[in-house]
Amino acid sequence: MIEIEKSLERQKLYFETGETRPISFRINQLRALHAKMKNMEQELLDALRDDLGRSDLESYAAEIGFIYREIEHTIQNLRSWSRPRRVRTPLLLAPGRSYIQKEPKGVVLIIGAWNYPIQLVLAPLIGAIAAGNCIVIKPSELARASEAILSKLIAEVFGPDYCNVICGGAETTSWLTRQAFGHIFFTGSTKVGKFVMENAAQNLVPVTLELGGKSPCIVDRDVDVTIAAKRIVHGKFFNAGQTCVAPDYVLVHSSIRDRLVDEMKKAISSFFGEEPEKSKNFGRIVNDSHFTRIIELLSGGKVAFGGRSNKVTRYIAPTLLLEVDLESKLMKEEIFGPLLPILTFESIQDVIKIVSLNPNPLSCYIFSSNESFSKEITQKISFGGGCINSTLLHLVNANLPFGGVGQSGFGSYHGQNSFDIFSHHKSILKTYFFLDNGLRYVPHKGSIGLIRWLFRL
Ligand code: NAD
Repeated sequence: MIEIEKSLERQKLYFETGETRPISFRINQLRALHAKMKNMEQELLDALRDDLGRSDLESYAAEIGFIYREIEHTIQNLRSWSRPRRVRTPLLLAPGRSYIQKEPKGVVLIIGAWNYPIQLVLAPLIGAIAAGNCIVIKPSELARASEAILSKLIAEVFGPDYCNVICGGAETTSWLTRQAFGHIFFTGSTKVGKFVMENAAQNLVPVTLELGGKSPCIVDRDVDVTIAAKRIVHGKFFNAGQTCVAPDYVLVHSSIRDRLVDEMKKAISSFFGEEPEKSKNFGRIVNDSHFTRIIELLSGGKVAFGGRSNKVTRYIAPTLLLEVDLESKLMKEEIFGPLLPILTFESIQDVIKIVSLNPNPLSCYIFSSNESFSKEITQKISFGGGCINSTLLHLVNANLPFGGVGQSGFGSYHGQNSFDIFSHHKSILKTYFFLDNGLRYVPHKGSIGLIRWLFRL
């Protein structure tokens, strides 16, 4: 750790030179990152295939193309985001001017998860660069090829005193989270998120926790079942179910369950063929321990479709499960794999009861043509964000803040939110010498009535 400690010291000194502050510097860094990624695009896609068996198209859409869009959006808007924002000054404080100035937080730490190993560190990195910080990135040690290519990418674009990748496992991450960073941005499990927050508290370091949870997909009786089935299957089996915002389980109105199951079977066969193991569009489980963990979850329900697996290639078929036991691990833990339990409901009360067994999911998906049904669900269930009549796509809109609530974390990013999260919002009131009314000084000249009146203005 001595070497890491020294490199952090150098980063702090570099930050203090002020070189990272000019907007032109930040834009140049974002441009350089974009250009280098273009240059290394195939290497990045290859690394993602090595780690997750994912197709180039899926990796481009979910990671590389996503980052290009974020960079472009940030470059376009950075000058306006970083301008001091004037706010109204109440008459009580006149004559005066009030404004909020966005300041970089210093040297910040970004810790990533393995399921979208490139996007999950580069998306916050864009915000951290845009806000004028120096950065340490700790990618997930479980996506080895991506960890290596990220280290190469960052080392080729930036100097180590500005932005540095530190590789290592839990011990290294734990040590890092005990250092006095300006901010820690963590993506990962709720369990580790708690350790991160506890460690960060020692130095009062602000944290953003992007965690997971069991995201429900609620299907009302009045939907287009074929389209709903396709959209659910797409969201669930993208990246072989290893997506933090994937529908974890389906809650469908009992009257259409069988039709929905039939349509989902058809959608799986149409997307991945009769033998998904041979499909180029279906990924693999990241490692043996996750493979074993997911296989163990199968006992929580009855396989209605799929269920096959191959330990050697870490393949688990897209699987639909019925007769699900609410007390099983399948319904108590985030699945994070290609198993989809399907439960039924009769009323909104049933939905609320089942979802509240695993409160504050990261996402919630509602399929319904009934406005009041969707409205009641969005109001009564606490969740990070979601879609009505779709899955996953809320993430793609840079104007929508992305993040969790309660058990699924706090703080949100993407677009301007990423810039805001890595900025300190410094509030300034400027007053002048030409009027000094003396109201504030003792002995007070004004009556309490005058102060009351001024406070109301
Ligand atoms: P994880 O919590 O095991 O690991 C995340 C990071 O924490 C890794 O970099 C790892 O090195 C580090 N870490 C592991 N153990 C640690 C410890 N004891 N102390 C300190 N650091 C430690 O998570 P994961 O398995 O990489 O990712 C899966 C989880 O992440 C799922 O719960 C998923 O829902 C969540 N996730 C959330 C989002 C989101 O945007 N909200 C995105 C992707 C994944």
